[in-house]
Amino acid sequence: MWHRRPRGLSASWLRGPLALPAAVLVAWVGFAPGAAMAFCRTTTVPVAPNFQPSREKCWDRGQPLFWKNACISYDLNRASSKQVSYDDAADHITRAFTRWTGASCPTDGTGTSRVSIDVRDFGPVECGAVKYNQGFGNQNVVVFRDEKWDKNDSSNTLALTTVTFNPDTGEIYDADMEVNTHEHPVTVRDPVPATGYDFASIMTHETGHFLGLAHSGEPRATMYANYQPGATAMRNLTQDDITGICTVYRPDGTRAVLVDKSTPADVCDPTPRHGFARECAPPAQKCAYAPAPPGGAEGSGVWLAALVAIAVARRRRA
Ligand SMILES: [Zn+2]
Repeated sequence: MWHRRPRGLSASWLRGPLALPAAVLVAWVGFAPGAAMAFCRTTTVPVAPNFQPSREKCWDRGQPLFWKNACISYDLNRASSKQVSYDDAADHITRAFTRWTGASCPTDGTGTSRVSIDVRDFGPVECGAVKYNQGFGNQNVVVFRDEKWDKNDSSNTLALTTVTFNPDTGEIYDADMEVNTHEHPVTVRDPVPATGYDFASIMTHETGHFLGLAHSGEPRATMYANYQPGATAMRNLTQDDITGICTVYRPDGTRAVLVDKSTPADVCDPTPRHGFARECAPPAQKCAYAPAPPGGAEGSGVWLAALVAIAVARRRRA
């Protein structure tokens, strides 16, 4: 049921160093002016706390985020959850990514119509930390938080995706997904009970964030900010979601960066930046948000982490 706007429960913000080079403070006004598109992209500039996307308006400051490589990888924390076995989680996450990577896009009739990004499962990892290392290998981990949810938010967050990116270019370096199984019951079996939280829906939404999409103003979209308990509709992408993924990862192998601009994908290599590590970085490498050295391998900018969450839509009490 989407006829009533849920209370403002969406959470979408940034953390990390907020001092951005002036050059990135340019407006991003979207694509195809005049077209009715509700989908939005996560950008390099933090979303204002009171901003709500609508069918007409996305947060439009900064540069939109994207993965440059034609192939990326994710991993599932080996411990999985008391609520969801490793095998069930891996199966659902694979299917969630495949909904996006299998999307068929409009073309001129030649070549492929499939989006130009592939996602690989690198299997179980020991590390369950949300961070990006510059001096150590990385993993794009999906991790369940059974024991505690220490996000200090009042938004009934179901799951949270943290995306680390280069603020100069919008290129995503790392993405990690956390599922709040400490506070919420998630279910992997059909039928989903009326009060249950459908893991397939949650992961389809979060994998959209992983790929760089933000919340859509279209209430029927998978990328809408709020989940209604018992619902399974978010498993299936709407035209709005498909338009979004096709806009970013074009079938011709380019990525849309700014208006009228694009960049070609790098040749398929799903290895995370600085290598793949199943274990977390040792404590000496703990500083995940330090500025990169001037002229260093990461370029001149600092990297930032965007946090994009899905929350439970609660009914307003009389
Ligand atoms: Zn979300």
